[in-house]
Amino acid sequence: MCGVLGICAPDRDVARVAHFGLHALQHRGQESAGIAVSNRGHLTVLREMGLVAQVFDEQNLGGLQGQLAIGHTRYSTTGSAQWANAQPIIHHGSARTVALGHNGNLVNAGELRDSLAGVRLGSSSDTELIAALIANDEAPLEQAVANAMRRLEGAYSVTALAEGKLLAFRDPHGFRPLVLGRLHDGHVVTSETCALDLLGAEFVRELDRGELLVIDENGVRAEQAVPAAEGALCIFEFFYLARPDTRLEGVEVHAARVRMGERLAEESPVEADLVLPIPDSGTPAAIGFARATGIPFSEGLIKNRYVGRTFIQPDQELREQGIKLKFNPLAEVAGKRVVIVDDSIVRGNTTRQIVAMLFDAGATEVHVRISSPPVIGPCFYGIDLADPDELIASSRTVDEVRESIGATSLAYISLDGLQWATARPESSLCRACLTGSYPTRIPEGRRLAKLRFEPAGTPAP
Ligand code: SF4
Repeated sequence: MCGVLGICAPDRDVARVAHFGLHALQHRGQESAGIAVSNRGHLTVLREMGLVAQVFDEQNLGGLQGQLAIGHTRYSTTGSAQWANAQPIIHHGSARTVALGHNGNLVNAGELRDSLAGVRLGSSSDTELIAALIANDEAPLEQAVANAMRRLEGAYSVTALAEGKLLAFRDPHGFRPLVLGRLHDGHVVTSETCALDLLGAEFVRELDRGELLVIDENGVRAEQAVPAAEGALCIFEFFYLARPDTRLEGVEVHAARVRMGERLAEESPVEADLVLPIPDSGTPAAIGFARATGIPFSEGLIKNRYVGRTFIQPDQELREQGIKLKFNPLAEVAGKRVVIVDDSIVRGNTTRQIVAMLFDAGATEVHVRISSPPVIGPCFYGIDLADPDELIASSRTVDEVRESIGATSLAYISLDGLQWATARPESSLCRACLTGSYPTRIPEGRRLAKLRFEPAGTPAP
């Protein structure tokens, strides 16, 4: 889960434009943020732990001058949350210097790392491997990128700077979104269309699977750098990750989530007095569920949107408040049969605490409806779900999960129902963590330890 952005606009303050664009990608990663600029080929990068608004100010943005910029928001999947892994990564190689931001996760990072044994790496993430392959290849730049893409396996939507050019490329399955937009005086490439809207850029098109764009003051050059494989856009983007105002392959995410709620109501109706969303990602599906059943929609659970964004650990007394740090129920749930609608259950801990909190607040029944099917397997392509044995549904029936979370009833949307709601064909989506059928080679033991390239003794995040 990361957001990437690239801008070519020689007459604009590109770092400032990138900074505003990153605000629209903040939901994709909150651990660190960064911007790199290219000034006539000379690269400067600023990256720090924290939110976009915490990392950048007038003064440090003023030091980022150039004609091209890339930006990144990070949520880690390979490599811990530490400064060395913040992006854009910059790698000085024997052939060139490359600044690069990556959304996705490589499944062959171990092999690539071994093959780069003689190259000094400054991070424990898989992203620097992509930069190092390009930076240490003596072939011309576009050829070096294509050579690197041929060696990468897994998920990558990338923006990069090298030799005074903005590069954007996407893996052959297209796991993560990447779109091209036009500014009146340049171009922008980014993870989600909501960033184009914020920047006033016109949507041009999605990058094709396996495509490379090279952008400079002469315009955009596109090439099919590696052959496209079967489409595998992550279905989690539709029900959880992408912002509701984003359009994925032409489908508005909010509308898809409302359809999920409507379909869920059709498949698993329930007699109740109130429908409550688990904010924020459960809200559109709860709207759909309420619309389809006629049960009144209520905010019911008020979310504190700021407390989860602090790096300060709560003390023991506050920790014991558990979920109350994040959610607080309204008095109107007392004496009511409530339906709570959420996008997914991964480990089950949050859902269990919310169900208990609603019973404590006086709800007489708590029915749980989920707008995705049970998550039964890990993700190797950029979403940090959990190890297989931590996934509550990987070894339990639906009724065992219901019992574990303490709900009156529990129902998930069917896979067919979810597919229908996305309005995209099955052949275009990855659904691997819901079906167990993965579109690429996966690691032996079905595990990809996040900290596998860290020095021994690095504490787990
Ligand atoms: S495994 Fe699941 S989370 Fe990962 S890319 Fe596929 S659908 Fe998305």
